[in-house]
Amino acid sequence: MSDVGDGTLVVHAGLPDPVPGEPFLPGPVFAAPYHLDPEQGPAAAENGYGRPDNPTRRALEAAIGELEGGTVRAFATGQAAITALLLSVLRSGDTVAIPADGYFTVRAFAEGTLRDLGVSTVLVPTAGPYPSFEGVRLVLLETPANPGLDVCDLAELARLAHSAGALVAVDNTTATPLGQRPLAFGMDLVVASGTKALTGHSDVLLGYVAGNNEDLMAKVTTWRAQTGGTPGAFDCWLAHRSLATLDLRLARQTANAAAVAALLADRDDVTGLRWPGLQSDPSYDIASVQMRRIPGIVSFDLGSAERVARFLAASELVFAATSFGGLHTTADRRAQWGDDTPPGFVRLSCGIEDASDLVADLSAALDAA
Ligand SMILES: *Cc1c(COP(=O)(O)O)cnc(C)c1O
Repeated sequence: MSDVGDGTLVVHAGLPDPVPGEPFLPGPVFAAPYHLDPEQGPAAAENGYGRPDNPTRRALEAAIGELEGGTVRAFATGQAAITALLLSVLRSGDTVAIPADGYFTVRAFAEGTLRDLGVSTVLVPTAGPYPSFEGVRLVLLETPANPGLDVCDLAELARLAHSAGALVAVDNTTATPLGQRPLAFGMDLVVASGTKALTGHSDVLLGYVAGNNEDLMAKVTTWRAQTGGTPGAFDCWLAHRSLATLDLRLARQTANAAAVAALLADRDDVTGLRWPGLQSDPSYDIASVQMRRIPGIVSFDLGSAERVARFLAASELVFAATSFGGLHTTADRRAQWGDDTPPGFVRLSCGIEDASDLVADLSAALDAA
């Protein structure tokens, strides 16, 4: 569907043509093997075996593909998608550039498994300065970076990477494809966790790789078929069902984040406030030209683990939880997971509650803490 608004796009994405008596979104197809034609075998039908073939998964992939503007392969988790990208592209002797301030499990994977396989890693700060990418096989970016919310210029980094002969990919988890469409900025591939705002109900783990380069997508598809990191049919169906409200959920989350950021900016007991939608934020300039909407995530520092604990205990609306992008407002002290952040650093994910209630609850909880 082209030339429609985001709300229309997500409601219709990946749906089959109407068939009288059938549901709008067909239910999950649970199958390991499917019936085969006795003579022609797997050549006769689209579905032969569940690892490579599932119609519920294909419908979800078609839907996300409409949002990203590319071919999509869904994975069981975001990490399954990211490691599929890394391991299907990188070979012994290669160098990969990854964000110094991005999702911490990616750094751990690079510094463990990739190093053991003979792949060297260069850590690159999302906001720069950027090293030369000469001799680098793949540049993986993440923007806005989780959890620090720095933003990089996608078109500029695509140019820098390509002129050095490197492939370039971006983790689009935080923005979602309604926040930015990285393939349109020249990225070779997009990876993302669908566990966060994309599905947004805190009940599904999902990941995907998207791209328009047929060779690269064929490698990713083969990787998935051979290593088996596919999502189950029920999770694909839940994810597809959840996509229809993405525009509404993001709109409310962004509005809530704007209200929360304004509240926090006014308090002198909160430091290090980051929200790329604030005019004073270091990411503001690039985010406002590159992104179609600003995510509902705000980060800040409360000074100590103890103060974060008091804040969480005092709040009636903010759940202590990791992950982000869900319906419920949640806050996570990242250092408790081993992420490289100060002890009082909090990533707050705004849900879809009423802004006035959130602001009142947050101010009271901060006063009490
Ligand atoms: C959560 C996250 C991942 C990993 O996703 P899972 O679905 O938890 O495996 C990767 N990248 C970013 C930016 C994330 O926030």
